Amino acid sequence: MIDIHCHILAEVDDGPKSWNVAQEMCRIAAADGIEHIVATPHANERYHYDRHYLAGLVHYLRQQVGSAPKLSLGCDFHFSYDNLQGNWMNASRGCGSVASRR
Ligand SMILES: [Zn+2]
Repeated sequence: MIDIHCHILAEVDDGPKSWNVAQEMCRIAAADGIEHIVATPHANERYHYDRHYLAGLVHYLRQQVGSAPKLSLGCDFHFSYDNLQGNWMNASRGCGSVASRR
């Protein structure tokens, strides 16, 4: 099973308040049969999405939990005109970047 919408990154928007809790969430998910979690930080008027920074956090959590569950970076994108403009204007760092489509 793949969890395609999870606020798993510590201290990022709706995520857990500590990395210990994030690690425990990953452990519980893996024990429950989740093989892959897509971390989906918000990209909206309240939360700026910096793909480079967030990818670093995913990498950090991956180092803590190992290979189960697999972790990758997605985006909880608020679909609005302003958000689209902001993301495309900053395509190299936003969730509309080419790197996010790989
Ligand atoms: Zn969400």
